[in-house]
Amino acid sequence: MAATELKIVSNATCTFCGCVCDDMELTVEGNHITKAKNACVLGKAWFLNHHIEERPIATIHGQPASLDDALEAAARILANARYPIVYGLSDTTCEAQRVAVAIADRIGGCVDTTTSVCHGPSGMAFQGVGEVTCTLGEVKNRADLVLFWGSNPAESHPRHWSRYSTMPKGLFVPNGRKDRTVVLVDVRRSKSAPAADIFLQIKPRKDFEALWALRALVKGVEPEASIEEETGLSLEQLRDLAHRMKTCKFGVLFFGMGLSMTRGKHLNVEAALALARDLNEFTRFYAKPMRGHGNVTGADNVVSWSTGYPFGVNLGRGYPRFNPGEFTTADTLARGEADAALIIASDPMGNFSQPAREHLASIPYVALDPKETATTRGATVAFTTATYGINTPGTVYRMDDVPIPLRPAFESPYPSDEQILSALERRIRELQQHRANGAGH
Ligand code: SF4
Repeated sequence: MAATELKIVSNATCTFCGCVCDDMELTVEGNHITKAKNACVLGKAWFLNHHIEERPIATIHGQPASLDDALEAAARILANARYPIVYGLSDTTCEAQRVAVAIADRIGGCVDTTTSVCHGPSGMAFQGVGEVTCTLGEVKNRADLVLFWGSNPAESHPRHWSRYSTMPKGLFVPNGRKDRTVVLVDVRRSKSAPAADIFLQIKPRKDFEALWALRALVKGVEPEASIEEETGLSLEQLRDLAHRMKTCKFGVLFFGMGLSMTRGKHLNVEAALALARDLNEFTRFYAKPMRGHGNVTGADNVVSWSTGYPFGVNLGRGYPRFNPGEFTTADTLARGEADAALIIASDPMGNFSQPAREHLASIPYVALDPKETATTRGATVAFTTATYGINTPGTVYRMDDVPIPLRPAFESPYPSDEQILSALERRIRELQQHRANGAGH
């Protein structure tokens, strides 16, 4: 028996969370990653628990099928649909996302990503207010005031603090953590709180009021005393924070789903973005979302550069229309509108509402995923694909919109999402041409 091949992959990229750390050193023995140096506890679990599942390359109605038969069946489902949807996309490469948008355009459907169920309100706020933005590299080298609002990086993004935002020594903050003030605003004392200099416990669902009080204070307007009772923060705390924000050299507000998915949603995020914009009268200040899934930021970028909007886009009229609530997948399914679906690297059957799941189960749909999920089990046609980052190269975007290349650890026997989607797009085009030729005779 040949000895198992051992290799080291340097500067590999972890795609488990939006930090997209690209300094992994992976030890690979055959088809297993045995060490993941530099990875956090989540990253280690991502790499070390990865194994190639023995599954058919494709199934039709749950029965093993050849790749060609599955591609034919999938292409027919999508080409024949009247109101198809394309959904998922946050756990795959930008190259695959790009082809998925092309398919949505070709079949005149909706394209939507998991952003619509996490930072969708932030995407709407960016469209409305704009974004004063910077990279995590600038934060590392310059930020002396770092605020986290409605997020718990110690548990959700374990290396954010050590790699980018609070601990590292930077060009203009040579003493690292000592040169920074770290503020955490949250409704509960999370695991991140002990590491912050200032923890402000805000009443649940009062983010909008607190952010507007800060906007007022930054502009020199004193809010009414009732704001204390309203938000749970004293006027003194609010005044102190506004003062720190105005007098820092470089400030950044990182906001999580505690801001974007609580009462007020996009209005909360608009308030945070507007506060950052206001502060630029006095200093340099930025606001950035803490993005979750590995390449959800790539999905936003690809859908935006292709259609002009980040998610919830309808291409049925031959031009893009953006309307969250109307064209977002949870809604098109729950209302029973979609008549076919293409789901890429996502599990709506595992986490959507009951009406949405029931409707998805009642229509033909195609699913691509490296693992077996409730969605792939119920799919009319399912494809087993290679895991991005571990088995396939490509590009992903870090949460600050910086593109990062992937360095795969070893090859998978399964094709990549991009390969399946490209073949699907080609076959749909052929079917449409065939139909157009037939109609011409
Ligand atoms: S912080 Fe996120 S990207 Fe970095 S190693 Fe941990 S899970 Fe992976």
